Amino acid sequence: KINKADAKVQKIRERKRRKGSEDRKVGSEVFDKITLETLYKLAKQDYIDILNGAISTGKEANVLKGITKDETYVAVKIYRIATSDFKKMDYYVHGDPRFNVKTKNKRQLIYAWVSKEFKNLKRLYNAGVNVPEPYISANNVLIIEFIGDEKGNPAQPVRNQPPKNPEEFFNKLLVQLKKFVHEGKLVHGDLSNYNILNQNEEPVIIDVSQSVVLDNPISHELLQRDIKTLVNEYKKLGVKTSYDEVYEYVDFK
Ligand code: ADP
Ligand code: MN
Repeated sequence: KINKADAKVQKIRERKRRKGSEDRKVGSEVFDKITLETLYKLAKQDYIDILNGAISTGKEANVLKGITKDETYVAVKIYRIATSDFKKMDYYVHGDPRFNVKTKNKRQLIYAWVSKEFKNLKRLYNAGVNVPEPYISANNVLIIEFIGDEKGNPAQPVRNQPPKNPEEFFNKLLVQLKKFVHEGKLVHGDLSNYNILNQNEEPVIIDVSQSVVLDNPISHELLQRDIKTLVNEYKKLGVKTSYDEVYEYVDFK
């Protein structure tokens, strides 16, 4: 007996076969053969039942909405093998003492990158930072908690949905940022209102693949850059703040 997820993957497969290209786009989604097999495996393990549309199509990854058998939403982040920014990954993965990645193989590097994002999320989630709970990662696919409402509408990045009370939101964000560094012992590295979701006026930090441990020689520089970006963005939203004030508050040692 074929279940719904099997049917979905099967349908995608058939469509691909008809089009006759492994890397051809399926709608707005890119599924190569290994990605399909990975999704199929995750479906069999009950991490997803149905893939229900795209949330975002980024430079390196597609984020889709998934539904599990017990009808909860999940976010499924799929890194594209063909079009990922290889140089960026190389830089961050090689600088991380936890990742002894010697490979120059692009696929292997992406897998290491995805498992880094999973581990970073897990570490942050366990430290109590407001990030999506990670469920599993396999190859180039990451399944995490869906941030949104119970009807399945995803929370929007602050960039698209500015907070009603920027001052209050910024203060909540700074608490998260400090926790990120002191409890999570990581520096985000790409922190901006694109990677902060506004969930009912609560900041949820996402996209931690490039986040680095404090021991990483580039961590201080990345933190300074993150703070600069945030201060600029929130000043534009009307918050009275300064780089020095935030830097002091975060208290990086
Ligand atoms: P990238 O920037 O590398 O494409 P992100 O992790 O930033 O990937 O995700 C891209 C977009 O997908 C986000 O801006 C957000 O709109 C959406 N998104 C990501 N993770 C989630 C999630 N857990 N729940 C809901 N939406 C998400
Ligand atoms: Mn992002």
